[in-house]
Amino acid sequence: MSQQIEIAPALPIPAFLVGEVQSKLAYVDENIAAARLSAQGEVITLTLRRPVEGPDRQALEAKVQRVVQAMVAGAFKPKVQVLEDYSDRPVPYRGDPNAGLLERGEMFQEAAGIFTLGPLVSRLIAFFEAQFVALADSFGAAPYRFPTLIPARFLERVHYFRAFPHSLTFVTHLREDLDVIDDFAQHAACGEDGLNAPPESFAPIQTLLSPAVCYHLYFSLADRPLPGGSLAATAVGNCFRYESLNLASLERMWNFTMREVIFVGPKDFVLQNRETGRQRMRDFFEQIGLAYHVESANDPFFIGEFKKQAAFQSAFQLKFEIRARLPFKDSTLAVGSYNYHQDFFGRALNITLPDGSPVHTGCIAFGLERMAYAFLAQYGLETAAWPEAVRKAVA
Ligand code: ATP
Ligand code: ZN
Ligand code: MG
Repeated sequence: MSQQIEIAPALPIPAFLVGEVQSKLAYVDENIAAARLSAQGEVITLTLRRPVEGPDRQALEAKVQRVVQAMVAGAFKPKVQVLEDYSDRPVPYRGDPNAGLLERGEMFQEAAGIFTLGPLVSRLIAFFEAQFVALADSFGAAPYRFPTLIPARFLERVHYFRAFPHSLTFVTHLREDLDVIDDFAQHAACGEDGLNAPPESFAPIQTLLSPAVCYHLYFSLADRPLPGGSLAATAVGNCFRYESLNLASLERMWNFTMREVIFVGPKDFVLQNRETGRQRMRDFFEQIGLAYHVESANDPFFIGEFKKQAAFQSAFQLKFEIRARLPFKDSTLAVGSYNYHQDFFGRALNITLPDGSPVHTGCIAFGLERMAYAFLAQYGLETAAWPEAVRKAVA
């Protein structure tokens, strides 16, 4: 029933954009079941759920070309700066950890991008968490707890809808109406297309699932001077990013957890702490024998914002990614990032320094599941082969 079509991109896609463009193709049309770009960027291969011909096919191809145009026209290759390189650190394992994780009940997929994790992975994550908390403590960071839900108004205020519309996750509930509730209770059933309840049963969307942790802190500080003039804080939280066809194992989840160490204050305070944090983490990664490197990066903005923002982020060194090696697929995976937002949140949320200027912010963010996954990809599931520091902590 499915159909494969090949499309020649209207503009040549440079190698450095192949991955970014490919991941955005997932959001072009619901009929796309898989999207692949050749390594040189000259052929786009789409697998469609049902065949299309004629005007429908033209419309689909036009949407694909819109993505290509928006992301490629006028884009230039960012200079990637490597800040640390320990990618040659020898690691004992080359296998794919996924099969073992499933077999041992260490990973159970509830649905695409939604996972339950077992005891070994949970202990491993607790170990990493303890180290990240120790990093936070080294800055005297104050602990916070943030909700999983986030008001739509908050995200609007920091222009999140414009930057990352495709990955948002919306929350609603049944309208407060006895007929609606009765009807739902009697007829609700899950079909191929999800819950069968009529869309009018649901209340308008005021709330989303939170896509990041540090935003909650900035919102709590909005519209007033920053008490004390600077702040270091830390929190762990559930984060949600709908990554569509790109959802894959623990590498790319819909629901994942992030530990952040957050800095709010003058520019130098934020930049210095970000740098100190990176130095301290370097020692930890050595202890656990992680093969990785740290390089400058940019965020996966939606197509309209991508070029401008990506170039801006690269030029101003706003984001550095900790990229761990995945030996089994000869690639790397971001397990964390060192971020500097300049005075973006200070301005958007009117958080001020004693001199009246907007605060600067930055955060060090770790993806806990990815951290564990990358470690297991390098060391395997047999704890005997693990570095002593990790084995002892997890035993
Ligand atoms: P990527 O480029 O891989 O999509 P990102 O740049 O979107 O990552 P950040 O916004 O820097 O990621 O988030 C901080 C960390 O959170 C990442 O380094 C990663 O470890 C983790 N993370 C981000 N998105 C996901 C996801 N979908 N599933 C699991 N972990 C994630
Ligand atoms: Zn953050
Ligand atoms: Mg990234």
